[in-house]
Amino acid sequence: MGLVETEGLILKSYNLGDADKIIVLLTRNEGLIRGVAKGAKRLKSRFGGSLEPFSVIDITYFQKEERELVSIRQIELVKSYFDKASNPNFLQKFAYLAELLVEFSPPNDPNERLYRMAKVCLETAAENSENLESIVLYFELWILRLGGYLPDWQKCDVCKRELNANADAGLQINFHLLCRECQKARSHWTISSQQRMIFASAQKNSPERFLQFTKNLNNDVREVSVVLRRIISHILGKEMAGEKILTTNA
Ligand SMILES: [Zn+2]
Repeated sequence: MGLVETEGLILKSYNLGDADKIIVLLTRNEGLIRGVAKGAKRLKSRFGGSLEPFSVIDITYFQKEERELVSIRQIELVKSYFDKASNPNFLQKFAYLAELLVEFSPPNDPNERLYRMAKVCLETAAENSENLESIVLYFELWILRLGGYLPDWQKCDVCKRELNANADAGLQINFHLLCRECQKARSHWTISSQQRMIFASAQKNSPERFLQFTKNLNNDVREVSVVLRRIISHILGKEMAGEKILTTNA
């Protein structure tokens, strides 16, 4: 493969020995990459502060065909969110979202829409740090949608008719919905028309407009997010660490 240049978003970093670091990043052109930054732990490192989580960077690295870890040659900082990451709520939520990106991105499988979605969510969250629950929901929904995992909440799963916009619908164990007529007994978990509007709005709008739409709907945002997290756990076959933290803090 040789030398590669692309833009990327730093998700995590680990120490490697006394001097080096391993960086996990989502890149625009090459998908998820793990790379070694030589000498990154030294005080006067050529990487400076560009390796902080959630930094947007231009990166040049060398990839050998048989190696999983690439060798990072150069990093230029495009945008830093270091000041935002000092807010514990921001840090916690984006650490969870970074984990989701790692779980849902197979290595070296680029997905430019996923990359752009992650970047615009980060930008929007940096300017609206009081409404992070909505950004998390937006992110969860889009990661599922881009992976082809998002259920269609417009239609009844059994009779396939459009759901009545003003009525509740029953949530099934497969995360699809049932209309009133198709529910034999009342489902113990209903999805309200308001919650379905939130679900539809996230699919139609930018994160910024979605934040405006959900401004006074915190409880419904939380309810929809709980369902999305159940879908995520179901797909991954495990609960995400961040999920528990989010649920207890909600
Ligand atoms: Zn039906």
